[in-house]
Amino acid sequence: MSRSDVIQQTLPWQKVLSQAIASPAELLQQLQLPQSLLADANISSELFALRVPEPFLRRIRPGDPNDPLLLQVLPLQAEQQKISGYVTDPLQEADANHRDGLIHKYNGRVLLILTGACAINCRYCFRRHFPYQDNRLGPEQWQSVLDYIEADQGISEVIFSGGDPLAVPDSRLRKMIADLEQIPHLRRLRIHTRLPVMIPQRVTPELLDILQNSRLKTVMVLHSNHANEIDDEVREAIRLLRRADVQMLNQAVLLRGINNSVAVLKTLSESLFDAGVLPYYLFVFDPVEGAAHFDISDADAQRLMSQLQGELPGYLVPKLAREIPGRNAKTLLPVDSQPL
Ligand SMILES: *Cc1c(COP(=O)(O)O)cnc(C)c1O
Ligand code: SF4
Repeated sequence: MSRSDVIQQTLPWQKVLSQAIASPAELLQQLQLPQSLLADANISSELFALRVPEPFLRRIRPGDPNDPLLLQVLPLQAEQQKISGYVTDPLQEADANHRDGLIHKYNGRVLLILTGACAINCRYCFRRHFPYQDNRLGPEQWQSVLDYIEADQGISEVIFSGGDPLAVPDSRLRKMIADLEQIPHLRRLRIHTRLPVMIPQRVTPELLDILQNSRLKTVMVLHSNHANEIDDEVREAIRLLRRADVQMLNQAVLLRGINNSVAVLKTLSESLFDAGVLPYYLFVFDPVEGAAHFDISDADAQRLMSQLQGELPGYLVPKLAREIPGRNAKTLLPVDSQPL
């Protein structure tokens, strides 16, 4: 069996996506977790649905309620607490929503919300309360987005975001990218996605063909928070993307109980690089309602990064950043070096 068969012999990605686990009872049963977690998992999944695709489920250690992958998806009692300072729109994105589906905050790049759908529902997601239903990119809205980009020569990069933009079928992506290629001042297409990590078979021959043959330079920013997320299938998907000339980066979120240790962050950077991906951002947590239990203080985050910096080559240290509404770029948190 060749390495590419590792991915190709499995189900089509749409099937895997539609069969993702949505029931807390099923999740607990499959992972041999205590029934005592069920009542709260049911209540919290009413606030934000549970969704775990099978390839991700396979990487969770059965019987371990503290598994770092499980904690990203399991609805907990803590989500039901309202804590002041934790809000439903921490990034105040509503203000930069110039067209339905388009967010233009930073010079030179616009972010498009292609869909509200994701392959997984991450409990800490800062978009867990986002009004996706008001941001449908139908044919009319798409034309309006194209007009907006066309009219601003300063825009050189389009970012496909979501939700997860790779939840959109290849045929539609092909059409959208072809439309964008007609705008002469666009140079780059960036895709912010968790799908190649969650469902590696999403990296279809057609997607590779679209990206490889685009006039636009393509960048893919994956989202992986822990090295256990990166298995052989994910590595193979990344290898195919790189072979299609896609620049591969990763962004992660610093999360209590999941990756707030030097050892875990170091292993993440090294595993990403082994797979062909450079770390880009490590975001401190956004204060979103229902996820305060993941929060880590800035001082602790900076101390961790300072230690991490002492362990890794500079290119494997992600930038510690946060998004502050009303600023013209992400805000970097200072990280000091330590005396020898
Ligand atoms: C984060 C973000 C970007 C991308 O910022 P980079 O620093 O270039 O990665 C662009 N637009 C919006 C609205 C964003 O939130
Ligand atoms: S994949 Fe991204 S957008 Fe979707 S739930 Fe997770 S963090 Fe949120």
